[in-house]
Amino acid sequence: MKATLEETLRDAIRTIPDYPKPGILFRDITTLLGDARAFRRAVDELVHPYAGAKVDKVAGIEARGFILGGAIAHQLSSGFIPIRKKGKLPHDTVRIAYSLEYGIDEMEMHRDAVKPGERVILVDDLIATGGTAEGAAKLLRQMGADIVAACFVIDLPDLGGRARLEALGVPVRTLVAYEGH
Ligand code: AMP
Repeated sequence: MKATLEETLRDAIRTIPDYPKPGILFRDITTLLGDARAFRRAVDELVHPYAGAKVDKVAGIEARGFILGGAIAHQLSSGFIPIRKKGKLPHDTVRIAYSLEYGIDEMEMHRDAVKPGERVILVDDLIATGGTAEGAAKLLRQMGADIVAACFVIDLPDLGGRARLEALGVPVRTLVAYEGH
């Protein structure tokens, strides 16, 4: 019998307890990326609702969002925008502070990466509290982007990230959910 999408993804995602610190269950997608069938399936499913829609750019969040976002951009024939930790991009940038579990950090994108009115899909591997994705969405909107959706392979719904993005009016697409954090 053909495995469901959820079975395929769950089988391909590795969980590492107590990484990077005690109590965290780290959802490792490197095993999914290394599994040709699971990787293709995840990308196909994430883009499915937007196939045929006009998407100008896919914005990927460093670093795992680059891998998925690059594949999604190719599939949708869109451009790609890297959203990076501060200090990594060589040209004129715009920056935003965002909240992490402990403290804050800053992310940047090139000022000319998106033009006002362009339709953008935001991509990362996983949404937890939503702090990272909210920062990226605000940065894109600051530059006039029209955010079509935010896409993630993994949702940790107990941490409320999806609800936080939806409250900003950003539609969220995720493929597999894990309880807890
Ligand atoms: P958040 O800002 O809380 O939504 O956290 C999302 C970011 O942190 C994403 O870039 C994820 O890759 C990473 N992240 C958070 N929690 C986990 C986890 N349990 N396993 C793997 N990555 C995580």
